[in-house]
Amino acid sequence: MNKDKQLLLPGISKPGKVGCRLPELDVPAAELPAGNLLRRKLSLPEVSEAELVRYFTSISRRNYGIDTGFYPLGSCTMKYNPKWHEDIARLPGFCYIHPYQPVDTVQGALRLMFELQEALAEITGMEATSLAPMAGAQGELASLLMIQAYHQSRGESHRRKILVPDSAHGTNPATAAMCGFEVNTIPSNGDGNLDLTSLANLINEESAALTLTMPTTLGLFDPRVAEVSAIVHDRGGLLIGDGANLNSLLGKVKFGDLGFDCVQLNLHKTFSTPHGGGGPGSGPVCARAELTDFLPAPVVIRDKKGYQSATPDKSIGRLGAACGNFGVMVKAYAYIRSLGAEGLKEVSENAVLNANYIKEKLKACYHLPYDRTCMHEVVFSGKKQKIKGVTTLDIAKRLLDYGFHPPTIYFPQVVEEAIMIEPTETESRETLDSFIAAMVEIAREAEENPDLLHTAPHNTPVRRLDEVSAARKPVLRWEMK
Ligand SMILES: *Cc1c(COP(=O)(O)O)cnc(C)c1O
Repeated sequence: MNKDKQLLLPGISKPGKVGCRLPELDVPAAELPAGNLLRRKLSLPEVSEAELVRYFTSISRRNYGIDTGFYPLGSCTMKYNPKWHEDIARLPGFCYIHPYQPVDTVQGALRLMFELQEALAEITGMEATSLAPMAGAQGELASLLMIQAYHQSRGESHRRKILVPDSAHGTNPATAAMCGFEVNTIPSNGDGNLDLTSLANLINEESAALTLTMPTTLGLFDPRVAEVSAIVHDRGGLLIGDGANLNSLLGKVKFGDLGFDCVQLNLHKTFSTPHGGGGPGSGPVCARAELTDFLPAPVVIRDKKGYQSATPDKSIGRLGAACGNFGVMVKAYAYIRSLGAEGLKEVSENAVLNANYIKEKLKACYHLPYDRTCMHEVVFSGKKQKIKGVTTLDIAKRLLDYGFHPPTIYFPQVVEEAIMIEPTETESRETLDSFIAAMVEIAREAEENPDLLHTAPHNTPVRRLDEVSAARKPVLRWEMK
């Protein structure tokens, strides 16, 4: 900590220290711009090269990532992604091509997209895929625009309402509102499933669709999904899947078989690109036959001349300038082809096994609101600790002291003091055991020494941050004080 502080640039800056040597001027000197364009008081730090390297290395070490440790951030699927997928995405034939280059020079890339479209359609049990959306939320938007266009094409523009379960990810109601739909919330029942009676009461001839996350955001498989589908379709509505969390379903269950009409996936969760890294994402949308004409452009087709981009007949249009985030597609393709059907199944089996292992080991210490087999993640409640005056936030902050990234907290909102843990399939039994031990220890601390938790974290470079200001007014430029 103190050693870190010594390394802060302003502290080590001294006039006259130089970190680099510029080469001799070997071109004619140019005139400087007019005086009013010149900044005369530019307070740049003056440090040596070694000090500069140590400064940047020390701040880089303050980052926490999946390469540094366990990252059970529920709903984000922070699994370890094989490094060689990055190598493949960086092959010159993939990373130096341009979206508007002649199609006969990019047949390999188009073939990759075509085969990825087919693989995702197979995995979800749908007819066709568009890889155009660049995030899960944009894939949701695509689904909603598609069903809007579908209803309009059938003269049913009066279907202006979208039904959304109360446990849904915030992007579900948000994207529906962006399309001009009215959002109707459907409560969950005591088991954490959709309440069928409320659904039957709320749905009517103005309902365009129900958006359902599978597994639900409680990490549960809703066993009555076939009934949900029947109720929605009986009333002329469609069933939209939010498939952002596909990690437990690979090779096990298909959205098409469950009665969904379309579904968006997050390649940057399940398919070898990390979520939440601030990097590019990809949220393909897969659709049943009735909806494929509406898919966003472009889609890749194959004809006599080879592979090429096309716009479906009644497409909702483009969602970005080019074809989506191609590098993410390459990694997803590499992941699917290298694991194969059997490997993908194993991913889901181990993801579910790991989540259930944590559930069983922690349910004695933390309240488990839905005590049934979970899927890729398990949702606890910090209710028991709250009675002692310790909040879920305190527990999350204390985990930092034990060297773990905290789980997702206060989501889903239907669970009081929610703690949502998603271990993923890539963690070993040893890692899970040390995380479990830390959680058990924290539960004991909450009983015996609540103040220790109120003031946590204690051994991180910074303590509790003002997260609201950090998000709303981020300071992204360094300034010498
Ligand atoms: C992550 C997630 C999303 C949003 O995905 P982004 O790529 O972050 O836009 C939507 N729904 C669910 C259930 C998710 O877990």
